[in-house]
Amino acid sequence: MCADPLRHGQPDRFGPVSEIRGIGKARAAVLEHVGIRTASDLLWFFPRSYQNRGDVRPVSMDSVDGMRHSYLLTVATQPRTVRLPSRRTLTKFRATDESGTVELAFFNQPYLSGTFHVGEEYRFYGVLQRIKPSYQMTGAAYEKYDPASPPADLVPIYRLPEGMTRRALEEAVHTAAEALLPRLKDPLPGELRERHGLASLAYAVRSIHQPEDTEALRRAARRLVFDEVLFHYLQVSVCADARPTEGGLRFPRQDLSAFFRFLPFSPTGAQRRTIEEIQRDTGRDGKVPPMNRIVVGDVGSGKTLCAEAALYLAAQNGYRAMLMVPTEILALQHLSEMEPLFRALGFRTALLCGSMKEREKTAVLSGMVTDDPAERIDLMIGTHALLSERVRCEHLGLIVTDEQHRFGVAQRAALGKKGEEMPHVLVMSATPIPRTLSLALYGDLDVSRIDELPPGRQKIDTFVVGEAYRARLNAFIRKNVEEGGQVYIVCPAIEPEKQEGDAENAPGTGLGELLFAAEDRPPLRYAVEYAEELRDRVFPDIPVECLHGRMKPAERDDVMARFASGITKILVCTTVIEVGVNVPEATLMIVENAERFGLSQLHQLRGRVGRGKRKSYCVLVSDSKGETARERLSVMKQTNDGFVIAERDLALRGPGDFLAAAGDKLRKHGDAGLRLAAAWQDAETFREAEDEARRFRETDPGLRLPEHAALRSAVLGSVERDPGKLN
Ligand code: ADP
Ligand code: MG
Repeated sequence: MCADPLRHGQPDRFGPVSEIRGIGKARAAVLEHVGIRTASDLLWFFPRSYQNRGDVRPVSMDSVDGMRHSYLLTVATQPRTVRLPSRRTLTKFRATDESGTVELAFFNQPYLSGTFHVGEEYRFYGVLQRIKPSYQMTGAAYEKYDPASPPADLVPIYRLPEGMTRRALEEAVHTAAEALLPRLKDPLPGELRERHGLASLAYAVRSIHQPEDTEALRRAARRLVFDEVLFHYLQVSVCADARPTEGGLRFPRQDLSAFFRFLPFSPTGAQRRTIEEIQRDTGRDGKVPPMNRIVVGDVGSGKTLCAEAALYLAAQNGYRAMLMVPTEILALQHLSEMEPLFRALGFRTALLCGSMKEREKTAVLSGMVTDDPAERIDLMIGTHALLSERVRCEHLGLIVTDEQHRFGVAQRAALGKKGEEMPHVLVMSATPIPRTLSLALYGDLDVSRIDELPPGRQKIDTFVVGEAYRARLNAFIRKNVEEGGQVYIVCPAIEPEKQEGDAENAPGTGLGELLFAAEDRPPLRYAVEYAEELRDRVFPDIPVECLHGRMKPAERDDVMARFASGITKILVCTTVIEVGVNVPEATLMIVENAERFGLSQLHQLRGRVGRGKRKSYCVLVSDSKGETARERLSVMKQTNDGFVIAERDLALRGPGDFLAAAGDKLRKHGDAGLRLAAAWQDAETFREAEDEARRFRETDPGLRLPEHAALRSAVLGSVERDPGKLN
C-alpha cells in the first residue's frame, strides 16, 4: 500500500509514534493519554475485546432479541437526511435481504447520503427492532460486502482515547504493523518455538489486531500469553541474578527488648520468626547483600509490627528509615500509631505527603539531612512523594514499602541514590501467593510468611447461596442493620452496557469468553440498578448508597465517609472498596455473582468485615451450576486462611490471576503487562512457559549468554529504556 509508511527514514520500533504516517502531533498527544508513545507501544496496544460480526442472521422476529447481530442487506432506497428540531439530523434508508426489509437510521451523519447507493450490499451490525410494518436499526456499524473478499468476522475493539475514532486507531495500528513487523526480530530461539508449536511474534502481533478467524486469534493469543508469562518469570530471574552480593549495611545493635516492652501485646510466633529473619538480614557481618525481603500475610495478620521492628533496628543503629504507603490516609494512620511509640523510644517521626504546605515540607526535608539533634528526623512516613527527586536523605538505612510500590530495577537504583549507601528494603504484601509460585513471582526477594493471626480473631462465617435464598438474605440484611451492623453488597459490574446507539464502538466479547467455552454464566447484577431497587423497594427505611469506580473521586470519598461514620447502613458497590477505609461496624459482606471473582479477591473482600467486636458474616451469592465455580466457592466456606485459599485457587484455575496481579504491581503505566494471560484459561500454556523459565534459570539465570542477548533485551527492554518517572 504505502511505499514509506513512516515519514522520516528508517522505521524504528522505539521511535515516537508521530513518525507513523497519519499520526501528527495532535493524534500523538491523544494517544499519549492511553500510554502510547512509541510505534512499539502502538503495536502492543491490544484490543480489549472483539465484535463477532461473522454471525449473520436473516431479518426476522427470531433476531429481535435486544442483542447485536450482523445482517447482509442490499440498499433498496437512496438515503435521505432530515433536520430535526434539536439541530440534529437523521439519515434514513431501506435495505433488504431475502426475508425482510429494515429501515436503517443514523443520527448526525448526513454525509452518509453519499455513502450508500441503491443496489450495493453491506454487512450491517446492530440491534434489530420490530417497528411495524417493518424492522428498524439505529446507529448500525457497516462494512461494504464483497463476496470475493468478505470482511473479517472478528472486529477488534480498542480502548479509544478521547478524540480518536476506531477507524483512525485501526489505520494507525495497521500502518505501524506494515512498517515494523517484517523487520521484527523474534526474541524466542527458533527451537524453543518449534518445541511448543508457537506462532512467530510478527504473526501473533498482526493477528491479535486483525484475526482472520477465531483459530488465528487463538494461535496469536497463545504465543503472546506464552511470552507474557515467560518474560515475567525471566524478569524476576534476571533481577534476582543482578542482586548485589555485597554492600549491605550492617546494624550491629540488635536489641529489641525496649521495643517489645512498649508493645501492648506479645508478638505471634509468625511475627517473631519474621522479625528474626529481618535481624539476620541486617545484622550479618562481612561482605553481605542488603536485605531485600517481602513479608506476606493476610490483612490483620500484624505485618505493621514487623515493619516497626525493622524501623526501630535502623534508628537504633543511627540510620534514618522511610515507610512508604499508597495513600495519605494510610500514612496518617501509621503516623498516629508510630509517632508516640518511637518518641517513647527516643526517635523523631515526621510525615511527608504531596498535599503538605511547602513550608512544612521544607522543614521535614531539612530534618532528613541534618545532624543537628534538635531538628533531626529519624523516621519518615509518606506516600510516593518520598520518591521525588527533591527528597534527599542522609544515612538512609531502610526503606519499608507496601506492595503497590514494589520497585523496578531502575527505581531501586534511584532509591540507592537518595543516600550514599544501599539501604535495606522490606516490602509488605497482603496478597498470599502459593508457595510453589513464590520463586517465580518473588524470586528476587526473600519471603517471610505470616501464616498465623493474632489471638482472639473471630472467624467470619461464610455461606454460599443461590437466588432462591434472596428473601431470607434480605431478612438477614435487615436483622444485621437493626442490631447496629453495616452491610457491604459487592456487585461485579456498574451498569448494563447500552445495546442501542452507535454499534461501531460498542464493546465486544473478551478474549477469554471468545476462545474458551465459558461455564454457564448467570446474569449479572449491576451496582447502580441494584442500589436503586434496594433503596426504593426493599429497604425504603434504611439508608442505602452506591459506590463505584466511575464516580468522581470527591463523590466517592463522600459516600465512603458517610458509610465509615455509620450514617449509611448498606453500601452497594463494586470492588473499589478493596482499598477502602476500615469500618469496624461492618458485619456483613455480600458478594453478588460470586462466580465472577477470583478466590483471592473474595478473600480480600471478606477481610473488610470482622474488624470490630461484632460477629461477622460473608454471603457469596451464585447461581452458577459450573463444577469449578461450585468447588471454588466451597473453598471459601472451608477456610479463612489466605494461603490455603491461594493454593486451592492455583489448583483449580491455574496461575493466570496470580501472574496478572503480580505483573500489575511490577509494571508501569503504558506497559501491556500480563493482560492476555489473565484471560487465558489453558493451564498447559502456563506450564510450558514455566518449564522454559526453569530451564533458563538453571542454565543462564541472568540471560548473559550471547545467544540469549535478544531475549534479554526483550525481557528488560522497557525497564532499561525508560528508567521511569520518579515524580
Ligand atoms: P496488617 O497485617 O493488615 O498490616 P496490622 O499490623 O494492621 O495488620 O494488625 C492488625 C491489628 O492486629 C492491629 O490492630 C494490631 O494492633 C493488632 N495486632 C498485631 N499483632 C498483634 C499481636 N501479636 N497480638 C494482638 N494483636 C495484634
Ligand atoms: Mg497493614
